[in-house]
Amino acid sequence: MSTGDVTGSGSPEEIDEAERLDCSAVIADVWLLLDNECDTHARARLQSHIDTCAPCLEHYGIEQQLKSLVSRKCGGEQAPAGLRERLTLEIRKTVIIRETRG
Ligand SMILES: [Zn+2]
Repeated sequence: MSTGDVTGSGSPEEIDEAERLDCSAVIADVWLLLDNECDTHARARLQSHIDTCAPCLEHYGIEQQLKSLVSRKCGGEQAPAGLRERLTLEIRKTVIIRETRG
């Protein structure tokens, strides 16, 4: 039986960490969109994640801004400076909070 192989130094947040990584990857894609022109792969990942994990973006408070950003960037427009700055602030703030908590 291998059920007794439990160490006290193991991470009890293993599952939670996996979920967080997924949402972190989405935020990384947001950075990609902010820094580069329309990246179709990042955009596809973002849109599918928005569809399946809206609470994540609601948590960041950037859902509407992000949708606007994606459609603007991939529609050939530059993201307005105000939007870019606001997204940057929101993401940075949330990431810092999460890292501090963890
Ligand atoms: Zn998410």
